[in-house]
Amino acid sequence: MEQIYCLIIIGALIVEYLLSTVSTILNMNSVSEIVPDGFQDHYDEEKYAKSQAYLKDNTRFGLLSSTFSLVLTLIVIHMELFGILDLFVRTQSVHPIVGGLIFFGIIFIINDIINLPFSLYGTFVLEEKYGFNKTTPKTYIIDKLKGYMLTIVFGTMVMSPILYFFNTYGENGWWIAWGLITAFMIAVQPLFVHVIAPMFNKFTPLEDGELRIAIEAFSEKVNFPIAKIDMMDGSKRSSHSNAYFSGFGKSRRIALFDTLLEKHSTEEIVSVVAHEVGHYKKKHIITGTILGIIETGIMLFVFNLLMNDLDLFAVFGVETVSVYGGLIFFGMLYSPVSLLTSIFTTALSRKNEFEADAYSLEHTRNKDALISMLKGLAANNLSHLTPHPLMVFLSYSHPPVMDRIAAVTIIDEQ
Ligand SMILES: [Zn+2]
Repeated sequence: MEQIYCLIIIGALIVEYLLSTVSTILNMNSVSEIVPDGFQDHYDEEKYAKSQAYLKDNTRFGLLSSTFSLVLTLIVIHMELFGILDLFVRTQSVHPIVGGLIFFGIIFIINDIINLPFSLYGTFVLEEKYGFNKTTPKTYIIDKLKGYMLTIVFGTMVMSPILYFFNTYGENGWWIAWGLITAFMIAVQPLFVHVIAPMFNKFTPLEDGELRIAIEAFSEKVNFPIAKIDMMDGSKRSSHSNAYFSGFGKSRRIALFDTLLEKHSTEEIVSVVAHEVGHYKKKHIITGTILGIIETGIMLFVFNLLMNDLDLFAVFGVETVSVYGGLIFFGMLYSPVSLLTSIFTTALSRKNEFEADAYSLEHTRNKDALISMLKGLAANNLSHLTPHPLMVFLSYSHPPVMDRIAAVTIIDEQ
């Protein structure tokens, strides 16, 4: 069995690497020479050239970091470094749960240190070069510290009971852990709104005025109560713009990035809000949550079948089974299934985007605003206008902007 596990794990790593490399190269080469029809208002020659350069730089950087990560993972497996780490944890003679947390903690820290140069380069060199980066070194460091704190708090809160359930309840551990994760996935929503998001950004109520009146009128018209309409200082980190809803029912809040407000008209922003409302009305949020819960359940169940299989541990040079080790190794064994699941979920997400656009149009009846919004967002974010279909198939959560515009264009406004 060990050879089969080894074959699946190494094979999946290499196949995924090849797939992503081929698709990113195809994607880089699928740019059109001239500004596509209909985008001349948003791109001049210079801006279009800049968007292509941004794509090329991003592609090269992505290829470099994925190659590095593949080589490193293969080295870690080949040199049986997990075995050394496992022995170290065992010699600490601590409670198995504490041992598990130490095991995860060390992996997290090493991984973060290795990724640090890439993260710094991405933010302060690449994004900076194209004028997107607004993060100061101070913000970067403070973000990191807050991130560590959240990882420690939530990591401990979620992982300790999971380790405990699998250690204590054996065959029943998986569904108890599943219940806990499900509860966490639901609890994290209000926690995100009230605790986590305000730790990183400042939210101020959108001032009274034309935009506020228009958003309120819209939410009333479609019977979708919004408790708070906030402006978020997204410009603190980046000039990329966005808007999102959070929370359930009557406590729902919408956050509009200040960068969005700067660059778009009231009508355009209402079309974005309407699009986001569409995701709720079409039940995309709830369906996504339920699918996530089901997927987690299946994963935990399969993990439960393999968690004591010494052959799986042997692939990584580990001689004794443990729940903590099993979780990491099983995650790698499961990655071909994860890839298929993610292809399915991104396809579903693209379909949902079309539906939300259609909802927006149906209720705002303003096709021009929606289309100019889509074009404006693509232009400001220097999006790839003609991505390669393989890239879209593998990883695009949103359909290419030209497809969205085409879909909106043929909808009858009546
Ligand atoms: Zn959407």
